[in-house]
Amino acid sequence: MAPLTALRALRNRSNFPIFSSTASIAWSIRRFISTLVVAEHEGGVVKPSSLSAFAAAEAIAKENSISVLLGGSGETLQKAAAHAASSHPLISEVLVADAEILAHPLAESWAELIHSVQKKGGYSHVMSASTSFGKNVLPRAAALLDVSPITDVIEIREPRVFVRPIYAGNALSTVRYSGQDPCMMTIRSTSFPLLVNSTNTEGRTVPINQVDVSVFSEESLKKSRWLKLTSQDTERPDLGNARVVVTGGRGLKSAENFKLLEKLAEKLGAAVGATRAAVDAGFVPNELQVGQTGKIVAPELYMAFGVSGAIQHLAGMRDSKVIVAINKDADAPIFQVADYGLVADLFDVIPELLEKLPEKK
Ligand SMILES: Cc1cc2nc3c(=O)[nH]c(=O)nc-3n(C[C@H](O)[C@H](O)[C@H](O)COP(=O)(O)OP(=O)(O)OC[C@H]3O[C@@H](n4cnc5c(N)ncnc54)[C@H](O)[C@@H]3O)c2cc1C
Repeated sequence: MAPLTALRALRNRSNFPIFSSTASIAWSIRRFISTLVVAEHEGGVVKPSSLSAFAAAEAIAKENSISVLLGGSGETLQKAAAHAASSHPLISEVLVADAEILAHPLAESWAELIHSVQKKGGYSHVMSASTSFGKNVLPRAAALLDVSPITDVIEIREPRVFVRPIYAGNALSTVRYSGQDPCMMTIRSTSFPLLVNSTNTEGRTVPINQVDVSVFSEESLKKSRWLKLTSQDTERPDLGNARVVVTGGRGLKSAENFKLLEKLAEKLGAAVGATRAAVDAGFVPNELQVGQTGKIVAPELYMAFGVSGAIQHLAGMRDSKVIVAINKDADAPIFQVADYGLVADLFDVIPELLEKLPEKK
C-alpha cells in the first residue's frame, strides 16, 4: 500500500487503538487532509474550471495532498493526465480511469467510479467544479457514500467551514460540515482563480496510476446510455471561462438582432450570453443563458445590452470585475450593479461600437 493511502486508511479508522495512546500521532493523523478532485478534460488538457478546483483544494489546507481523478479513453486522456500531473504543486497522484463508458458525462457510471475510488483511497474531501458535470455527478456519488454534499462553495474558511450563496446570491451562508468523511463539495471556479505562481511544479514527478475499472456492474451499464452531443460550432471562447462576455436580453427583440451582438463579440474576442427571457423567446439556445438557472460567469468585462437586471440574472454575473450596462430605461435595476451605465438605445450603441472598434487581428 502506498504510504499516503496507508495514512488515509489509518486516519479513517478512528477507533484504531494505537492512536488513542499516542496523542501526537493522532494529532498529525487528524490534521492529515487529502482531497480527491474529480476533474474534467478536453483536447488533452484539464479544463480551466478543474484547475480552479486545485486552487480550492489548496485553500482547504496548505498541506493538502491532492489526488486527481480523470476518466475517459484514448490518447487525450493520457495527455490530460500528464497535464494534470504538472498543474499544481500539491498534486500527489493522478488516477486515470480508462473506460469507454467514462468518455461521456454519464452520472451513474461516474458516481460508481467515485464511490469505488473513495472507498479505496479514504480521502477527507472530494471535490469538483460546479459545472453541469460536477453538479450532475457529485450529488449521486455523495448519495452512494451516504454523505451530504455542499454545493457552490465560494470561500473556504477552514477545512470544514465553507461559504456559499443562497437566495439566488442575495445572501451568503456559512456552513460547517460535521458529517463523516468524505466532505464532498462543488466549488464555483470563478471564486478560485489559479494563481500562476502557485503552479510551479518543476522538479516533481507525480505518479499517474490506473484505476481498476471493473467496478461497473452490468446493471449500471444499463441504467443510462450516451446518445449524442449537440453543441454550437463556434470559435468564440467558452462562456464560463471567457475574459469578456457580451449579453443580450429581451431588449434585443429578435434572433436576427442577436447577430449584431455576435459581431461585437467577435471584435472583442468575447463570449455571447443571454438572459432567460431572450432564451425563452427563442432568440438564442439555452446554453447561452446566464443566471441562477444558467451559467455563472465572472469575466473581467461583462456588457449587458437590453437586460433589466432581475435578481435571477444578477445571480449569474454579479461577480464580474467590470459591469457595463446599456439600457434605455434609467430605472432598470441593472444600473445598481453596473460600474458603467449608459442610458441609451442599444440599436444606436452597438453599431457605433462596431464602427469604432478596430478589427480583431
Ligand atoms: C426560478 C427562476 C429562475 C430564473 N433564472 C434566470 C436565469 O438564470 N437567468 C436570467 O436571465 N433570468 C432568469 N429568470 C428570469 C428573470 O426573472 C427575468 O425574467 C429575466 O432575467 C428578464 O430578462 P431580460 O432582462 O432580458 O428581460 P426584461 O426584464 O423584459 O428586460 C428587458 C430590458 O431591455 C430594455 N430595453 C428594451 N429595448 C431596449 C433598447 N432598444 N435599448 C436598450 N434597452 C432596451 C428594457 O428597458 C428592459 O430593461 C428566472 C426566473 C425564475 C422565476
